[in-house]
Amino acid sequence: MKAIALIPHTKTVQLIDFPEPKIESPTQVKVKVLEVGVCGTDREEVSGGRADAPVGENRLIIGHEVLGEVVQVGANVKTVKPKDLVVIMVRRPCNECPMCKMGCSDMCESGNYTERGIKQRHGFHAEFVVDEEKYIILAPPTLKGTAVLTEPTTVVEKAIDHACRLQVARLPVDPDPKKWLVGKNVLVAGLGPIGLLASMVLRLRGAQVVGIDIVPPESLRPRILEAMGGKYVVAKEENATGQKFDMILEAAGIPKLDFALTQFLGTNGVYVLTGVAADGPPLAVEAGKMMRDLVLKNQVMFGSVNAGVAHFKQAVIDLEEAEKKWKGVIQQLITSKTPHEEFQNVFQKRNPDEIKAVIEWT
Ligand code: BGC
Repeated sequence: MKAIALIPHTKTVQLIDFPEPKIESPTQVKVKVLEVGVCGTDREEVSGGRADAPVGENRLIIGHEVLGEVVQVGANVKTVKPKDLVVIMVRRPCNECPMCKMGCSDMCESGNYTERGIKQRHGFHAEFVVDEEKYIILAPPTLKGTAVLTEPTTVVEKAIDHACRLQVARLPVDPDPKKWLVGKNVLVAGLGPIGLLASMVLRLRGAQVVGIDIVPPESLRPRILEAMGGKYVVAKEENATGQKFDMILEAAGIPKLDFALTQFLGTNGVYVLTGVAADGPPLAVEAGKMMRDLVLKNQVMFGSVNAGVAHFKQAVIDLEEAEKKWKGVIQQLITSKTPHEEFQNVFQKRNPDEIKAVIEWT
C-alpha cells in the first residue's frame, strides 16, 4: 500500500510502498483511511523537528488526525463493524506509570508514551491502518464532512474540561464542570483550528467568547467565530475591551502574546495553554506583577496536551451538536482537500488563508 513517510529529524518526506497491515488479534480493527488533517505538529515534523520512528526503523509514517471507514473486525470486536465511520486515538500508554496503568495515557508521567504519527508509532497517512478496538471511536454518518476535525477537537475538550474541573473543585459552585461555563467570559487567543474548535465547545457550554487574532475582521476565521455567536477583536485592541476574563484559552503558541494576555485574566480566573511554542530568544516579562496577580487574585495557569477516550467521545457529541446548531459552519474550517499524491504541496507551503488542510486518501 502507499503511505507518507518521513525520515525523522530531516526534511525528507515521501510517498512510499509499505506492507499493508493485517488484523493479528481478535480485538483489532482494520480501517481504510479516508482523510487525514494536517496540523502544526505535522509541519514541525516535516521541517526536521520533533518526530521519532518506531524503535529499530528509520522512517515514520506521519499523520494523526484521521477519519476512516472500518473494513474488517476481529472476532471479539463489539463496538464497530465494517462500513462504520471511525476516528482513532493518537497516544498509547507507556505501561509503566500509574496514569498509563489507569488508562490515562494523556497524563503519562514517565514520558515514555508513544503517539501514532508523532512518536515511535506509525501514523495514519496510509491506505489502511490496524488498531485495537479500545482506541477506535465511532463517528455517526452525519459527521462524514467534519469528523476529520475530531482529534483537534479532543485537544480542546480536554483543556476546557480540565479548566472547568479546576474551577468547580476550588470554588463554591455547582460541581458539574460542564455547567461552570454558563455565562462566563472567555478569551480565546489565536483563531486557527484549535482556537475555533475551542470557541465552538465554549459556545456550546454557554460561555461568552471573545476571540483574538491578527487577521482582518472580514476574513473567514472571524466570520466563523461570529457565526457561532462569538465576538472578534484584532490582537492589540483586546485591551480596548477593558474586560477581564473568567477563562483564557491560548491557542497561538506565541510566548510574547501569551504572557501579555495574563493581564486580562480576572480574579479567580483560569488560564489554559494549548499552543506548543517554538524555542526563541529569552523574553522579558513583568514576572513580579504576574506572580503577584496569580497569588493575590487566586489565578490558575496550566498547560494541556493530548486527550483521553472520554474527550474523544465528547468531541463527536459536540461536533454533531454544532452541526445542528450552526449548520455548515464547522465545515468551513476545512479550507482545502488535497489528494494524497500531492501531499508535498500542503506540507511545503502553507496557504495564508488556511484553517485546516485535509489530505484525501480515496
Ligand atoms: C496532537 C496531540 C499530541 C501532541 C503532542 C498534537 O498535535 O494533537 O494528540 O499529543 O501533538 O505530540
